[in-house]
Amino acid sequence: MTHTPQTKHAEHAEHAEHAEHAGHGEHGERAARAAQADRTPRTRTTERAADEGKPNVVVLGAGYAGLAAAVRLARHARVTVVDPGTRFTERIRLHEQAAGGRDVTRPLTGRGGILSGAGVAHVVARAAALDPLARTVTTEGGRCLGYDRLVYALGSRTGGTAEGAAAGGTSRAEGESAAFGRVHTAEGAARLHRRLAAGPGTVAVVGGGLTGIEMAAEIAERAEGHRVRLLSEDVIGPGLSAKGRSHVRAVLTERGVRIEEGHRVAGPDDVDADAVVWAAAMVPNAELGARAGLAVDASGRLAVDTALRSVTHPEVYVVGDAAAAHTPAAGALRMGCAAALPMGVAAARSIAAESRGGSPVPLDFSYLIQCVSLGRRDGLVQFVRPDDSPRERALTGRPAALAKEQVVRSTVRLLRLAVRAPYAVRAVPGLG
Ligand SMILES: Cc1cc2nc3c(=O)[nH]c(=O)nc-3n(C[C@H](O)[C@H](O)[C@H](O)COP(=O)(O)OP(=O)(O)OC[C@H]3O[C@@H](n4cnc5c(N)ncnc54)[C@H](O)[C@@H]3O)c2cc1C
Repeated sequence: MTHTPQTKHAEHAEHAEHAEHAGHGEHGERAARAAQADRTPRTRTTERAADEGKPNVVVLGAGYAGLAAAVRLARHARVTVVDPGTRFTERIRLHEQAAGGRDVTRPLTGRGGILSGAGVAHVVARAAALDPLARTVTTEGGRCLGYDRLVYALGSRTGGTAEGAAAGGTSRAEGESAAFGRVHTAEGAARLHRRLAAGPGTVAVVGGGLTGIEMAAEIAERAEGHRVRLLSEDVIGPGLSAKGRSHVRAVLTERGVRIEEGHRVAGPDDVDADAVVWAAAMVPNAELGARAGLAVDASGRLAVDTALRSVTHPEVYVVGDAAAAHTPAAGALRMGCAAALPMGVAAARSIAAESRGGSPVPLDFSYLIQCVSLGRRDGLVQFVRPDDSPRERALTGRPAALAKEQVVRSTVRLLRLAVRAPYAVRAVPGLG
């Protein structure tokens, strides 16, 4: 990898403001204006001299995949994470927040922050444009960040129809907006919780995939007085074994959820309920890359090679839900935290290898289990083949709920471990 720090300034902790004002030509003025808008907590503690000669890596998105890549790379590169949030959202707990109200975010920087001590800079801003030719990212505030390698980890949002996508919005902030009335998504979990807490009513969860199932079960168990329906075009949990599906059905029914399979919904207006929770599909946040000319595949995700590099722009690694990744053992990967963390780690290893003059390493990943929470007291651990197809074997009940909780906890534990011992997280199993 060739990198020229003089011309490719990622904004780094030690010289972030300098880089901003000395910005690249036309970007300089905008960058200066934006200096007040974007805040850059300084987490890097290593001497700047130690960074000389290291590549600049900009990571877009501080979700599971982006953080895994950033912390794993920190010793090999000057890493800058760009994300508008100052907190990491444990997205796989958003149904818990919706039903129970507990905040499921954690600080990124400062005391107890996931990035604290990692030697990673965080630019608190939304990425607005990519220029792959110039190798720059411009934030909404107008700051311009140069990179040698970009890690694109912008994740996804819950959507599925124009209306559903509108409810999910293009960001968590929009998902939180009150303007979307009775329509909710997981991304707006805090607003949904306020609605549920405001008093009993009817709730329709649209989408019988794992997110919809978890949401319906959690609301039925914890948000007392609400009458919950789960609407699904297909059978619920289509990727589960017969035993797994039958357990999910039994638990939902016991919690009072009315399951309506074969119920096709065109949009939220089609649903008669006080609150509609849209969980019909996950839409990848691929627009930023697509606008910049990165190839998109038929699933709407950014097309990548076996080492997770954009097939059209190999200096851009795409990880997590935004990537249309595939491995020989697993085939095409579904969107999920289970694959997002290993993808982040794999991209980091490849970039580190490139910085030493080596070649990127193909992603090695296969699935082991799917874990589904069914409220706080029950769950399902579905054993799967390496390609994610279900085996008949499944663990249910409280043991499964406990196992699921451990898997969820392990995501944050793994990120924290990677800060202290990056090499300890070489391989991450496909649990999720
Ligand atoms: C309720 C629920 C339960 C789930 N349960 C499971 C489960 O049990 N197992 C499982 O495997 N998966 C589960 N998932 C899916 C899982 O959450 C996602 O697959 C996972 O979060 C993907 O990780 P990611 O890093 O790709 O993206 P994300 O976690 O979505 O992170 C993306 C980051 O990008 C940031 N971002 C977005 N746009 C911009 C921008 N323009 N500029 C800068 N930053 C930006 C966001 O702020 C966010 O921090 C669940 C999802 C939901 C909603």
